[in-house]
Amino acid sequence: MRPLPSEAGLGTRAIHAGEAADPSHAYLNPIYQTASFRFDSLAESEATFAGKRAGYFYTRNGNPTIAALEAKLAALEEVGLDEPARALAFGSGMAAVSAVLLALAEAGGQIISQEALYSATYQIEATLLPRYGIGVTFVDPSDPAAVAHALDEAGPRARLVFLETPVNPTLRCIDIAAIAEITHAHGALLVVDNTFATPYGQRPLALGADVSVYSTTKFISGHGAIIGGAVVARASADFCPWLELYRKHLGAVPGPFDAWLTALGLRTLHVRMERHCANALAVARFLEAHPQVAAVHYPGLPGFPDHALAARQMTAFGGMVSFDLKGGGEAARCVLDAVRLCVITPTLGTFDTLITHPATMSHFELSPAERHRMGISDGLIRLSVGLEDAADIIADLGQALDRV
Ligand code: PLP
Repeated sequence: MRPLPSEAGLGTRAIHAGEAADPSHAYLNPIYQTASFRFDSLAESEATFAGKRAGYFYTRNGNPTIAALEAKLAALEEVGLDEPARALAFGSGMAAVSAVLLALAEAGGQIISQEALYSATYQIEATLLPRYGIGVTFVDPSDPAAVAHALDEAGPRARLVFLETPVNPTLRCIDIAAIAEITHAHGALLVVDNTFATPYGQRPLALGADVSVYSTTKFISGHGAIIGGAVVARASADFCPWLELYRKHLGAVPGPFDAWLTALGLRTLHVRMERHCANALAVARFLEAHPQVAAVHYPGLPGFPDHALAARQMTAFGGMVSFDLKGGGEAARCVLDAVRLCVITPTLGTFDTLITHPATMSHFELSPAERHRMGISDGLIRLSVGLEDAADIIADLGQALDRV
């Protein structure tokens, strides 16, 4: 492939990065749907295994289709970054999250984490990591002093700080640059789950974080067809080989076809995100004015508590909106039963508008007290605003809210 100019914008990178010239002259990258690669001689095999000859030998260790996706993911995160990035694709967002947590901490180490997180991440930290001697301190990172205090307490055991911003499902935002400074002053690494924003809306590495983590199941692949994940870091980071080791030996690789579908979806990320963001703002404004709605959570609304921070650190406010109903859980049930266009499903980031009840869906495994601490009431509804005509999404929500 001819190299992209270093000043190429995010859209150009989404379309062209990682699109290698295949010997067959195929217009689209071919799918190398194969478990392994064969050799003409033992000498060729030996040279490949030893890294003395360019080439692949086994898909869990590497595959051209997966490498093409990784090149595209890295190129997106390099916008605004002064050095090359390295991306690793995983078989799910949770495989990516767990590999990062395991590779960057070890027995006796301490993780400082936001508590209001995607529920599976929270559960790995709260219940699984302590079984292996990795401690976790939960803090509210909207108060940087609380993070500094937890890092002070952990002392030399501190390994990493884990954030998710905007937070699923309350959309609260955390100051990445401020937390990066505190984290680095304590000799630890900052990991940010950037699933909601995508590199179109926020680039954690350029803001000072060490690792961006993604569930590529969502906006990155964009079509709800695959489960996948990714980790992106500066290529020079000394922990990159550890991440690779964990990925290949724990076996958390994506299948080649899933990687291909993800790269295909990624080619339109910027166009999809532009429409997701515009529709989300229109929906948020409509909800804000509705008498049944107690509060709307969207970083793009001037009245949202974290709007000024979001405007500073995000390049777009994203396609996720959530709102609290005055009528609580009963009202939420009524709205979900009444929508006709919005699809009731626990995922997010696809082309259609998706509606979720976090208390009984994405966060159902947590106790009421944990949900309360995370700001998830029974009357909270989460929307992944799709690419339909905004007027039709608003009309559907309007008729559903009128039944409350
Ligand atoms: N991180 C966030 C913010 C998520 O919303 C999710 C899933 O919803 C994940 C991680 C986990 O991703 P996956 O379902 O692809 O394993």
